[in-house]
Amino acid sequence: MSLIYSIKKLVDPNAARIEEAHAILMQRAQPRTDDSDDLRYRCRVCGFVSKSREYCPSCLADTMEEYQIIIY
Ligand SMILES: [Zn+2]
Repeated sequence: MSLIYSIKKLVDPNAARIEEAHAILMQRAQPRTDDSDDLRYRCRVCGFVSKSREYCPSCLADTMEEYQIIIY
């Protein structure tokens, strides 16, 4: 919580409450991209990693398979 927010809450608690509710709504409206961000495709022949599973640009063949990057 910022200092400005705290002061605002003391001066005008109603406005602060509306702002708080708006912030929560905005947070909920954010699209979830967590799942798609980690999804990559890797060529099973040469190991080329791409976000597209169309075909491997190196082998020019349909050799891409799902590849999950695991960050510890
Ligand atoms: Zn390849």
